[in-house]
Amino acid sequence: MNKNEIVKVNITDLGTEGEGIGKVDGFTLFVKGGIPGDEIEARVLKVKKSFGYAKIENIVTPSPDRVETRCPVANKCGGCQIQHLSYAKQLEIKKKKVFDCLTRIGGVDPKTLEKCYEDIIGMEEPWHYRNKAQYPVGIDRDGNPKIGFYAYHSHNIIENDDCEIEQPLCAAILKDLREVISRFNIRAYDEAIGRGELRHCLIRSGFSTGEVMVCLVVNAKGKELNKWKADSDVAQTLVKSIKEDAVKLGFKFVSLCLNVNTKNTNVILGDKLYPIYGPLYINDMIGNVIFRISPMSFYQVNPVQTKKLYNKALEYAGLTGNEVVWDLYCGIGTISLFLAKQAKKVYGVEIVPEAVENAKENARLNGISNAEFFCGAAEDAVPRLNRDLTNAEKCDVIVVDPPRKGCDEKLLDTIIKMDPIRIIYVSCDPATLGRDVKFLRDHGYELKKACAVDQFCHSMHIESVVLLSK
Ligand code: SAH
Repeated sequence: MNKNEIVKVNITDLGTEGEGIGKVDGFTLFVKGGIPGDEIEARVLKVKKSFGYAKIENIVTPSPDRVETRCPVANKCGGCQIQHLSYAKQLEIKKKKVFDCLTRIGGVDPKTLEKCYEDIIGMEEPWHYRNKAQYPVGIDRDGNPKIGFYAYHSHNIIENDDCEIEQPLCAAILKDLREVISRFNIRAYDEAIGRGELRHCLIRSGFSTGEVMVCLVVNAKGKELNKWKADSDVAQTLVKSIKEDAVKLGFKFVSLCLNVNTKNTNVILGDKLYPIYGPLYINDMIGNVIFRISPMSFYQVNPVQTKKLYNKALEYAGLTGNEVVWDLYCGIGTISLFLAKQAKKVYGVEIVPEAVENAKENARLNGISNAEFFCGAAEDAVPRLNRDLTNAEKCDVIVVDPPRKGCDEKLLDTIIKMDPIRIIYVSCDPATLGRDVKFLRDHGYELKKACAVDQFCHSMHIESVVLLSK
């Protein structure tokens, strides 16, 4: 196979990043935009020893699961990798992916898993589901400001004011921001040289409270920050127009804040946060628990599905009111407080200080007095806390909800020592879930239940929750 050659390929699988996978004479080809069932003529772009990359030249026979994308930039923007795949098929593929990871990596017997693997929980209406948007602000070739989303694996900004998975209010806010940028001559950030001031616009909305927060990330210090102060023309213009838009769309604009990030890195937020208008948080509710969320804290992005996910975690936890529960990687205490009402005691551990502050405040707001929160890396804090706290108090249930890289082995070791009756693992990456399940199985636990919950419709991200016990 040679570069630029046109080959016929049947796509049989989807890769982790949503790319189509097919074989040509035993040679694996990755074809962006291909989906299982497609018969494609593809142009070879790159050839390696046993695999290569190709792009679609012509779809000879489309897969029966191929659908029209709703969004005009769906194949350019890095947000939705599989919008061209029917939602039913997306769910089927995600369900299978978790199954495969638990069996192949986790070592769970497929027959055993079949019996305890529940059907994936999808969305009835998988559109406009996100409560958070992070728009990079940059410049185009002519130096004009550009706001949108990054293309996949790139920092090329794809403009799109009408995102199908974000809130329509975001489009209105971007319009307001564009007007302010041009009227007040605000320079968009140029990553290449680390110059310019406006870097990102982060929008968060509480679906059940209707509260909206906008956080602008700027590269500015000292006097340069004055133009953003509450009484400045920039701030007042922006607040006024966002307020009006929010009301029209049934939301309440409650907070505008400024985050300062002067480092030339890929990390979006800096450490400093200043209020411009309103408080540095919004409130939202999941079920009957109210949460205070700051821009620096993690909060699940799909509130409709989060409720279903937490209910599943609660069901797996099997609480009767007498249990001591540890919620590790607890964020702002969402799972902790969800469980606290049905447990004797909940301990939460989280690494981001602002999130821990939110968690403590959230416990107070809800009148929950049996939850305590600690700040630290779970792998360091839990061994220490476990020594200090649990001599008298045996831990019954442990919930973990780590980022994609999964749990640190030092933490898994500690979990084994803590000897809980049940472990509930909430995961946003089935591969690391499989790896950690293998560790826990090798140390006496067995997988008892598993369920995928689609939190990230039209993307390849996969959320799942499993129950392990001895
Ligand atoms: N359970 C929460 C948060 C899950 S996201 C919820 O459902 O909302 C994962 C969380 O782990 C984030 O809040 C992140 O800040 C935190 N985190 C990342 N690494 C960590 C570590 N080593 N120790 C503790 N928390 C960590």
